Amino acid sequence: MTSSPDPAAAPGQVHPPPRLLMGPGPINADPRVLRAMSAQLVGQYDPAMTGCMNETMALYRGVFRTANEHTLLVDGTSRAGIEAALVSLLEPGDRVLVPVFGRFGHLLVEIAERCGAEVRTLLRPWGEVFEPEEVEAAVVGWRPKVLAVVHGDTSTTMRQPLADLGEICRRHDVLLYCDATATLGGNAFETDAWGVDVATAGLQKCLGGPSGSAPVTIGPRAVAVVDGRRHVEAGIREEVDVDRESGVRIASNYLDLAQIMDYWGPRRLNHHTEATTMLYGARECARILLEEGVDTAVERHRVHGEAMLAGVRGLGLEVFGDVAHKMHNVVAVRIPDGVPGDAVRAAMLTDFGIEIGTSFGPLHGRVWRIGTMGHNARRDAVLTTLAALEQVLRGCGADVTAGGGVGAAREAYAQQVTA
Ligand SMILES: *Cc1c(COP(=O)(O)O)cnc(C)c1O
Repeated sequence: MTSSPDPAAAPGQVHPPPRLLMGPGPINADPRVLRAMSAQLVGQYDPAMTGCMNETMALYRGVFRTANEHTLLVDGTSRAGIEAALVSLLEPGDRVLVPVFGRFGHLLVEIAERCGAEVRTLLRPWGEVFEPEEVEAAVVGWRPKVLAVVHGDTSTTMRQPLADLGEICRRHDVLLYCDATATLGGNAFETDAWGVDVATAGLQKCLGGPSGSAPVTIGPRAVAVVDGRRHVEAGIREEVDVDRESGVRIASNYLDLAQIMDYWGPRRLNHHTEATTMLYGARECARILLEEGVDTAVERHRVHGEAMLAGVRGLGLEVFGDVAHKMHNVVAVRIPDGVPGDAVRAAMLTDFGIEIGTSFGPLHGRVWRIGTMGHNARRDAVLTTLAALEQVLRGCGADVTAGGGVGAAREAYAQQVTA
């Protein structure tokens, strides 16, 4: 790996090459987040630490748009949040319905199966989302305990509307779990207004941080389920309230939301050693988002997403999927016939330092995924990426419209009031 020398770096110190990360995540962290993460550690029960945890909970209530007391961080990447939610809600034999419209839906299925749950799926071709009627019919016909759904699936770029699903879950007394990793902060997400019982996320998409911390919010109906599964080690029995032990013990210690809620809550019962540096980073991500305003940030993602969409079309490229349901922050671009998809990505990286994404499953080798999220949902990042893509495609002999990408994106910006 080549990189320019940095006179300030100690010999052998990590020194990654400069990159503009325009894939489906991770993206470049906001410099403010990196600075926050270089702050010194404090002890686990230092008032400065517990104060920082309380602030972080309050900030993430704003991010998730919820009044849920239990809004906290699970230490680990986004899938630690997913696993914590599912392993804490699901007992062996419980029924889970998963509408699958991309790769991350299959991940929910796999995790729920590992919890011993009985899983049924609804399937949609990649590039589409579900109609609420179809989900409701399945809920009524099978009566699951949990409906587990991905909000935005970066594998297909589709965003599933959730408000109706929340309503359906209330009506039929089903818990709604949502993986909002790829959408939170860049697309509207309303935990309380939509009736989402548990939502989990990560930092490395629209929140503009590194992966390694999973913000999670747990609503009262879900808290009741988790509380019913408390089983406490004999050694600390006197410290906690165990009169509700009834359900099957949660199969994970590290991801046991009952213990994690006690650890973040007023009792501060010891669980793991908080990943302090990630806490600082997650806190700063939320501060940045709330300073901008959630609605403003969502609108910014919409504007730059629209510009990128217009730009790739302006180059003469086609996009994949039902664009009416596209997430704001990522677009899937069809690789033109005869163009070597991997060679284009490699040239973007080596010649321009820009990373764009490959794809999985049925889309493997068929599309590139280009992200505009978090700190990188910016005009200069969009225009630079389009200009570089044009040059690389030309170099591969592809038939692209000269200046068409940057031109169309500029036109899209000109039509936006907020850009
Ligand atoms: C990116 C993404 C994840 C990532 O999970 P990690 O454990 O952080 O790698 C999870 N869910 C969805 C929907 C995503 O888009």
